[in-house]
Amino acid sequence: MQFETRAIHVGQDPDPRTGAVVVPIYQTSTFAQPAVGEHTGYEYARTGNPTRTALQECLASLEGTEQAVCFASGMAAEDAILRLLAPGDHVIMANDVYGGTWRLITKVHARYGIEVSAVDMTDLDAVAAAFRPTTRFVWAETPSNPLLKILDLAALAELAHDRDAWLVADNTFATPYLQRPTEFGADLVVHSTTKYLGGHSDVVGGAVCTDEQTAADLAFLQNAVGAVPGPFDSWLTLRGVKTLGVRMEKHSENAGRIANYLAGHAAVEQVLYPGLADHAGHDVAARQMSAFGGMVSFRVAGGADAARRVAERTELFFLAESLGGVESLIEHPGIMTHASVAGTDLEVADDLLRISVGIESADDLLADLERALG
Ligand SMILES: *Cc1c(COP(=O)(O)O)cnc(C)c1O
Repeated sequence: MQFETRAIHVGQDPDPRTGAVVVPIYQTSTFAQPAVGEHTGYEYARTGNPTRTALQECLASLEGTEQAVCFASGMAAEDAILRLLAPGDHVIMANDVYGGTWRLITKVHARYGIEVSAVDMTDLDAVAAAFRPTTRFVWAETPSNPLLKILDLAALAELAHDRDAWLVADNTFATPYLQRPTEFGADLVVHSTTKYLGGHSDVVGGAVCTDEQTAADLAFLQNAVGAVPGPFDSWLTLRGVKTLGVRMEKHSENAGRIANYLAGHAAVEQVLYPGLADHAGHDVAARQMSAFGGMVSFRVAGGADAARRVAERTELFFLAESLGGVESLIEHPGIMTHASVAGTDLEVADDLLRISVGIESADDLLADLERALG
Protein backbone atom coordinates (compact mmCIF):
# COMPACT_ATOMS: atom_id res chain seq x y z
CA MET A 1 0.00 0.00 0.00
CA GLN A 2 1.13 3.53 -0.74
CA PHE A 3 1.72 6.19 1.91
CA GLU A 4 -1.61 8.02 1.53
CA THR A 5 -3.54 4.75 1.81
CA ARG A 6 -1.60 3.61 4.88
CA ALA A 7 -2.25 7.00 6.55
CA ILE A 8 -5.98 6.31 6.30
CA HIS A 9 -6.08 2.54 6.86
CA VAL A 10 -3.22 1.15 8.95
CA GLY A 11 -4.32 0.50 12.53
CA GLN A 12 -7.79 1.74 11.56
CA ASP A 13 -9.92 -1.26 10.66
CA PRO A 14 -13.67 -0.76 11.30
CA ASP A 15 -14.55 -1.25 14.94
CA PRO A 16 -15.20 -5.00 15.37
CA ARG A 17 -18.20 -4.50 17.66
CA THR A 18 -20.16 -1.79 15.80
CA GLY A 19 -18.53 -1.37 12.41
CA ALA A 20 -17.70 2.28 13.16
CA VAL A 21 -15.35 3.35 10.35
CA VAL A 22 -13.50 5.77 12.62
CA VAL A 23 -11.45 4.38 15.51
CA PRO A 24 -13.47 5.19 18.67
CA ILE A 25 -12.16 7.40 21.46
CA TYR A 26 -11.76 4.83 24.22
CA GLN A 27 -12.36 7.31 27.04
CA THR A 28 -11.75 4.87 29.87
CA SER A 29 -9.07 4.51 32.51
CA THR A 30 -9.43 0.78 33.05
CA PHE A 31 -10.63 -2.37 31.26
CA ALA A 32 -12.73 -5.19 32.76
CA GLN A 33 -10.83 -8.48 32.84
CA PRO A 34 -12.47 -11.82 31.97
CA ALA A 35 -10.61 -13.66 34.77
CA VAL A 36 -7.94 -12.96 37.35
CA GLY A 37 -4.65 -12.65 35.56
CA GLU A 38 -6.29 -12.59 32.11
CA HIS A 39 -6.95 -9.47 30.06
CA THR A 40 -7.98 -8.29 26.60
CA GLY A 41 -4.58 -6.77 25.87
CA TYR A 42 -5.54 -3.68 27.88
CA GLU A 43 -5.49 -3.39 31.67
CA TYR A 44 -4.98 0.22 32.66
CA ALA A 45 -4.90 3.25 30.36
CA ARG A 46 -1.46 4.54 31.37
CA THR A 47 -0.03 1.27 30.03
CA GLY A 48 -2.16 1.19 26.90
CA ASN A 49 -5.33 2.44 25.25
CA PRO A 50 -6.80 1.22 21.93
CA THR A 51 -7.06 4.73 20.43
CA ARG A 52 -3.38 5.26 21.19
CA THR A 53 -2.55 1.84 19.72
CA ALA A 54 -4.25 2.77 16.45
CA LEU A 55 -2.17 5.95 16.20
CA GLN A 56 1.03 4.06 17.03
CA GLU A 57 0.42 1.42 14.37
CA CYS A 58 -0.29 4.08 11.78
CA LEU A 59 2.79 6.19 12.61
CA ALA A 60 5.09 3.14 12.59
CA SER A 61 3.80 2.26 9.15
CA LEU A 62 4.34 5.79 7.84
CA GLU A 63 7.92 5.98 9.17
CA GLY A 64 8.64 2.43 8.05
CA THR A 65 9.61 1.23 11.53
CA GLU A 66 8.58 -1.86 13.47
CA GLN A 67 6.87 0.16 16.21
CA ALA A 68 5.93 3.61 17.41
CA VAL A 69 5.38 4.82 20.96
CA CYS A 70 3.21 7.92 21.41
CA PHE A 71 3.70 10.44 24.20
CA ALA A 72 1.94 13.40 25.82
CA SER A 73 4.22 15.82 23.93
CA GLY A 74 7.29 15.94 21.74
CA MET A 75 9.36 16.83 24.79
CA ALA A 76 8.04 13.79 26.68
CA ALA A 77 9.11 11.64 23.72
CA GLU A 78 12.59 13.19 23.73
CA ASP A 79 12.83 12.82 27.51
CA ALA A 80 12.09 9.09 27.20
CA ILE A 81 14.83 8.70 24.58
CA LEU A 82 17.35 10.48 26.82
CA ARG A 83 16.33 8.21 29.72
CA LEU A 84 17.75 5.29 27.74
CA LEU A 85 21.18 6.75 28.64
CA ALA A 86 23.24 6.26 31.79
CA PRO A 87 25.34 8.82 33.72
CA GLY A 88 28.52 9.64 31.81
CA ASP A 89 26.96 9.03 28.39
CA HIS A 90 27.49 11.70 25.76
CA VAL A 91 25.24 13.11 23.03
CA ILE A 92 26.23 15.15 19.97
CA MET A 93 23.63 17.72 18.98
CA ALA A 94 23.44 20.36 16.30
CA ASN A 95 24.22 23.92 17.41
CA ASP A 96 20.78 25.00 16.24
CA VAL A 97 18.76 22.15 17.71
CA TYR A 98 15.19 22.91 18.88
CA GLY A 99 15.50 25.17 21.94
CA GLY A 100 13.40 22.88 24.13
CA THR A 101 15.65 19.94 23.30
CA TRP A 102 18.71 21.95 24.33
CA ARG A 103 17.00 23.02 27.55
CA LEU A 104 15.97 19.43 28.32
CA ILE A 105 19.47 18.04 27.97
CA THR A 106 21.45 20.92 29.51
CA LYS A 107 19.07 21.85 32.34
CA VAL A 108 17.52 18.49 33.22
CA HIS A 109 19.50 15.49 31.99
CA ALA A 110 22.86 17.20 32.67
CA ARG A 111 21.95 16.97 36.37
CA TYR A 112 21.94 13.19 36.02
CA GLY A 113 25.35 13.07 34.36
CA ILE A 114 24.40 13.21 30.66
CA GLU A 115 26.95 15.16 28.63
CA VAL A 116 26.34 17.04 25.40
CA SER A 117 28.36 18.79 22.70
CA ALA A 118 26.80 21.27 20.28
CA VAL A 119 28.40 21.31 16.84
CA ASP A 120 27.60 22.57 13.38
CA MET A 121 26.35 19.24 12.06
CA THR A 122 26.48 20.37 8.45
CA ASP A 123 30.27 20.07 8.98
CA LEU A 124 30.86 16.30 9.06
CA ASP A 125 34.50 16.73 10.16
CA ALA A 126 33.28 18.71 13.17
CA VAL A 127 30.83 15.91 13.99
CA ALA A 128 33.58 13.27 13.68
CA ALA A 129 35.83 15.33 15.97
CA ALA A 130 33.09 15.64 18.61
CA PHE A 131 32.86 11.87 19.27
CA ARG A 132 34.05 10.57 22.63
CA PRO A 133 34.33 6.93 23.71
CA THR A 134 31.09 7.58 25.67
CA THR A 135 29.09 9.01 22.75
CA ARG A 136 25.79 7.12 22.47
CA PHE A 137 23.60 9.38 20.33
CA VAL A 138 24.04 11.70 17.39
CA TRP A 139 20.91 13.83 17.53
CA ALA A 140 19.96 15.29 14.16
CA GLU A 141 17.11 17.62 13.34
CA THR A 142 16.64 18.26 9.63
CA PRO A 143 15.44 20.71 8.41
CA SER A 144 16.50 22.49 11.58
CA ASN A 145 14.64 25.08 13.57
CA PRO A 146 14.74 28.01 12.90
CA LEU A 147 17.71 28.13 10.50
CA LEU A 148 16.39 25.42 8.14
CA LYS A 149 19.82 23.85 7.90
CA ILE A 150 19.88 20.47 6.18
CA LEU A 151 21.81 17.59 7.69
CA ASP A 152 23.02 14.61 5.68
CA LEU A 153 21.27 11.75 7.46
CA ALA A 154 23.10 8.96 5.62
CA ALA A 155 26.52 10.44 6.39
CA LEU A 156 25.61 11.02 10.06
CA ALA A 157 24.26 7.47 10.42
CA GLU A 158 27.52 6.10 9.07
CA LEU A 159 29.62 8.23 11.44
CA ALA A 160 27.46 7.14 14.38
CA HIS A 161 27.35 3.44 13.51
CA ASP A 162 31.13 3.27 12.95
CA ARG A 163 31.50 4.34 16.58
CA ASP A 164 28.71 2.22 18.10
CA ALA A 165 26.41 5.19 18.54
CA TRP A 166 22.83 5.65 17.35
CA LEU A 167 21.40 8.29 15.07
CA VAL A 168 18.30 9.94 16.52
CA ALA A 169 16.42 12.01 13.94
CA ASP A 170 13.89 14.68 14.84
CA ASN A 171 11.61 14.48 11.80
CA THR A 172 9.07 17.05 12.99
CA PHE A 173 9.70 19.58 10.22
CA ALA A 174 9.77 17.14 7.31
CA THR A 175 7.24 14.50 8.43
CA PRO A 176 7.44 10.95 7.05
CA TYR A 177 5.59 12.11 3.94
CA LEU A 178 8.63 14.12 2.82
CA GLN A 179 11.47 12.20 4.52
CA ARG A 180 11.85 8.84 6.23
CA PRO A 181 15.10 8.96 8.26
CA THR A 182 15.32 5.20 8.82
CA GLU A 183 15.82 4.79 5.05
CA PHE A 184 19.09 6.67 5.59
CA GLY A 185 20.09 4.66 8.68
CA ALA A 186 18.49 6.51 11.59
CA ASP A 187 17.83 4.26 14.60
CA LEU A 188 15.13 6.34 16.27
CA VAL A 189 12.82 8.93 14.73
CA VAL A 190 11.22 11.43 17.09
CA HIS A 191 8.28 13.70 16.39
CA SER A 192 6.41 16.52 17.93
CA THR A 193 3.04 15.34 16.59
CA THR A 194 1.78 18.76 17.74
CA LYS A 195 3.04 20.13 14.44
CA TYR A 196 2.37 18.66 10.97
CA LEU A 197 1.19 15.19 12.03
CA GLY A 198 -1.69 16.62 14.06
CA GLY A 199 -1.73 19.45 11.56
CA HIS A 200 -4.56 21.59 12.94
CA SER A 201 -3.00 23.35 15.96
CA ASP A 202 -5.46 21.68 18.30
CA VAL A 203 -3.44 19.03 20.13
CA VAL A 204 -0.02 18.53 21.78
CA GLY A 205 1.71 15.16 21.36
CA GLY A 206 4.89 13.29 20.56
CA ALA A 207 6.06 9.99 19.14
CA VAL A 208 9.14 7.83 18.73
CA CYS A 209 9.32 5.41 15.80
CA THR A 210 11.90 2.66 16.12
CA ASP A 211 12.62 -1.09 16.29
CA GLU A 212 10.67 -3.47 18.49
CA GLN A 213 13.26 -3.80 21.28
CA THR A 214 13.88 -0.07 21.63
CA ALA A 215 10.13 0.60 21.51
CA ALA A 216 9.65 -1.91 24.35
CA ASP A 217 12.34 -0.11 26.38
CA LEU A 218 10.61 3.23 25.72
CA ALA A 219 7.18 1.80 26.56
CA PHE A 220 8.60 0.51 29.85
CA LEU A 221 9.95 3.99 30.67
CA GLN A 222 6.69 5.58 29.60
CA ASN A 223 4.61 3.31 31.80
CA ALA A 224 6.99 3.94 34.70
CA VAL A 225 7.03 7.72 34.21
CA GLY A 226 3.50 8.32 32.89
CA ALA A 227 3.79 10.89 30.06
CA VAL A 228 1.01 9.29 28.00
CA PRO A 229 -1.28 10.96 25.45
CA GLY A 230 -4.98 10.84 26.31
CA PRO A 231 -7.42 8.98 24.07
CA PHE A 232 -8.95 12.17 22.66
CA ASP A 233 -5.50 13.60 21.88
CA SER A 234 -4.56 10.34 20.16
CA TRP A 235 -7.79 10.48 18.16
CA LEU A 236 -7.25 14.09 17.07
CA THR A 237 -3.71 13.26 15.96
CA LEU A 238 -4.87 10.22 14.02
CA ARG A 239 -7.54 12.34 12.37
CA GLY A 240 -4.85 14.81 11.30
CA VAL A 241 -2.54 12.10 9.98
CA LYS A 242 -5.17 10.91 7.49
CA THR A 243 -4.65 14.10 5.41
CA LEU A 244 -0.89 14.43 5.92
CA GLY A 245 -0.03 13.76 2.28
CA VAL A 246 -2.29 16.38 0.71
CA ARG A 247 -1.41 18.90 3.38
CA MET A 248 2.36 18.48 2.94
CA GLU A 249 2.03 18.88 -0.84
CA LYS A 250 0.18 22.17 -0.37
CA HIS A 251 2.45 23.42 2.48
CA SER A 252 5.48 22.77 0.26
CA GLU A 253 3.95 24.38 -2.81
CA ASN A 254 2.88 27.52 -0.91
CA ALA A 255 6.23 27.77 0.92
CA GLY A 256 8.13 27.46 -2.36
CA ARG A 257 6.19 30.34 -3.88
CA ILE A 258 6.63 32.50 -0.78
CA ALA A 259 10.37 31.74 -0.50
CA ASN A 260 10.86 32.81 -4.13
CA TYR A 261 8.84 35.96 -3.57
CA LEU A 262 10.80 36.89 -0.42
CA ALA A 263 14.13 36.19 -2.14
CA GLY A 264 13.30 38.93 -4.66
CA HIS A 265 12.05 41.48 -2.10
CA ALA A 266 14.15 44.57 -1.34
CA ALA A 267 13.13 44.56 2.36
CA VAL A 268 14.46 41.02 2.82
CA GLU A 269 18.14 40.46 3.54
CA GLN A 270 18.27 36.67 3.22
CA VAL A 271 15.84 33.77 2.80
CA LEU A 272 16.48 30.38 4.37
CA TYR A 273 14.52 27.69 2.53
CA PRO A 274 16.02 24.36 1.43
CA GLY A 275 14.05 24.52 -1.82
CA LEU A 276 16.04 27.55 -3.02
CA ALA A 277 18.95 26.55 -5.27
CA ASP A 278 21.33 28.86 -3.34
CA HIS A 279 20.56 27.19 0.02
CA ALA A 280 23.67 25.45 1.38
CA GLY A 281 21.72 22.24 1.98
CA HIS A 282 19.73 22.23 -1.24
CA ASP A 283 21.43 19.22 -2.84
CA VAL A 284 21.23 17.05 0.27
CA ALA A 285 17.60 18.09 0.79
CA ALA A 286 16.77 17.21 -2.81
CA ARG A 287 18.30 13.78 -2.20
CA GLN A 288 16.64 12.92 1.11
CA MET A 289 13.31 14.79 0.92
CA SER A 290 10.56 14.49 -1.69
CA ALA A 291 9.66 18.21 -1.36
CA PHE A 292 11.02 21.01 0.82
CA GLY A 293 8.30 21.51 3.42
CA GLY A 294 6.34 24.46 4.75
CA MET A 295 8.86 26.29 6.94
CA VAL A 296 10.65 29.42 5.74
CA SER A 297 12.92 31.75 7.72
CA PHE A 298 14.12 35.14 6.54
CA ARG A 299 16.17 38.06 7.75
CA VAL A 300 14.61 41.47 7.44
CA ALA A 301 16.69 44.37 6.11
CA GLY A 302 16.76 47.08 8.76
CA GLY A 303 17.46 44.88 11.77
CA ALA A 304 15.56 43.73 14.84
CA ASP A 305 13.01 46.55 15.01
CA ALA A 306 12.07 46.18 11.36
CA ALA A 307 11.70 42.41 11.85
CA ARG A 308 9.48 42.97 14.85
CA ARG A 309 7.24 45.35 12.91
CA VAL A 310 6.79 42.85 10.09
CA ALA A 311 5.83 40.11 12.55
CA GLU A 312 3.28 42.38 14.19
CA ARG A 313 1.81 43.66 10.92
CA THR A 314 0.74 40.48 9.17
CA GLU A 315 -2.94 39.63 9.49
CA LEU A 316 -3.39 36.18 7.97
CA PHE A 317 -0.08 35.01 9.42
CA PHE A 318 -0.94 34.93 13.12
CA LEU A 319 1.84 35.99 15.45
CA ALA A 320 2.30 32.77 17.40
CA GLU A 321 4.75 30.06 18.38
CA SER A 322 4.41 26.52 17.02
CA LEU A 323 4.09 25.46 13.39
CA GLY A 324 2.70 22.84 11.09
CA GLY A 325 -0.99 23.71 11.25
CA VAL A 326 -3.27 24.50 8.32
CA GLU A 327 -3.14 28.20 9.25
CA SER A 328 -0.07 30.34 8.61
CA LEU A 329 1.97 31.60 11.55
CA ILE A 330 4.82 34.08 11.93
CA GLU A 331 7.20 34.48 14.85
CA HIS A 332 10.42 36.12 16.02
CA PRO A 333 12.63 33.21 17.19
CA GLY A 334 15.10 35.42 19.09
CA ILE A 335 12.40 36.76 21.40
CA MET A 336 9.84 33.94 21.22
CA THR A 337 10.66 30.25 20.59
CA HIS A 338 14.41 30.55 21.03
CA ALA A 339 14.57 33.00 23.95
CA SER A 340 15.90 30.20 26.17
CA VAL A 341 19.07 29.90 24.05
CA ALA A 342 20.00 33.61 24.14
CA GLY A 343 23.62 34.00 25.19
CA THR A 344 24.52 30.40 24.23
CA ASP A 345 26.01 28.83 21.09
CA LEU A 346 22.46 28.47 19.79
CA GLU A 347 21.53 32.16 19.85
CA VAL A 348 19.84 33.29 16.60
CA ALA A 349 20.03 36.64 14.79
CA ASP A 350 17.58 39.26 16.07
CA ASP A 351 16.45 40.23 12.54
CA LEU A 352 15.31 36.67 11.80
CA LEU A 353 11.63 35.78 11.34
CA ARG A 354 10.25 32.29 10.90
CA ILE A 355 7.02 31.53 9.09
CA SER A 356 5.01 28.35 9.09
CA VAL A 357 3.28 28.53 5.74
CA GLY A 358 -0.26 27.17 5.94
CA ILE A 359 -2.51 25.79 3.25
CA GLU A 360 -4.54 28.94 2.60
CA SER A 361 -4.49 30.45 -0.89
CA ALA A 362 -0.89 31.39 -1.68
CA ASP A 363 -2.16 34.57 -3.34
CA ASP A 364 -3.71 35.74 -0.08
CA LEU A 365 -0.57 34.85 1.87
CA LEU A 366 1.65 36.74 -0.58
CA ALA A 367 -0.62 39.80 -0.36
CA ASP A 368 -0.42 39.67 3.45
CA LEU A 369 3.41 39.59 3.38
CA GLU A 370 3.50 42.33 0.75
CA ARG A 371 1.44 44.57 3.02
CA ALA A 372 3.54 43.77 6.10
CA LEU A 373 6.87 44.33 4.34
CA GLY A 374 5.71 47.50 2.57
C1 LIG B 1 7.81 21.54 18.85
C2 LIG B 1 9.04 20.75 18.65
C3 LIG B 1 9.50 19.86 19.63
C4 LIG B 1 8.80 19.72 20.97
O1 LIG B 1 7.53 19.18 20.86
P1 LIG B 1 6.29 19.53 21.83
O2 LIG B 1 5.18 18.75 21.23
O3 LIG B 1 6.09 21.01 21.79
O4 LIG B 1 6.66 19.07 23.20
C5 LIG B 1 10.63 19.12 19.35
N1 LIG B 1 11.29 19.25 18.19
C6 LIG B 1 10.89 20.11 17.22
C7 LIG B 1 11.66 20.21 15.96
C8 LIG B 1 9.76 20.88 17.42
O5 LIG B 1 9.37 21.75 16.47
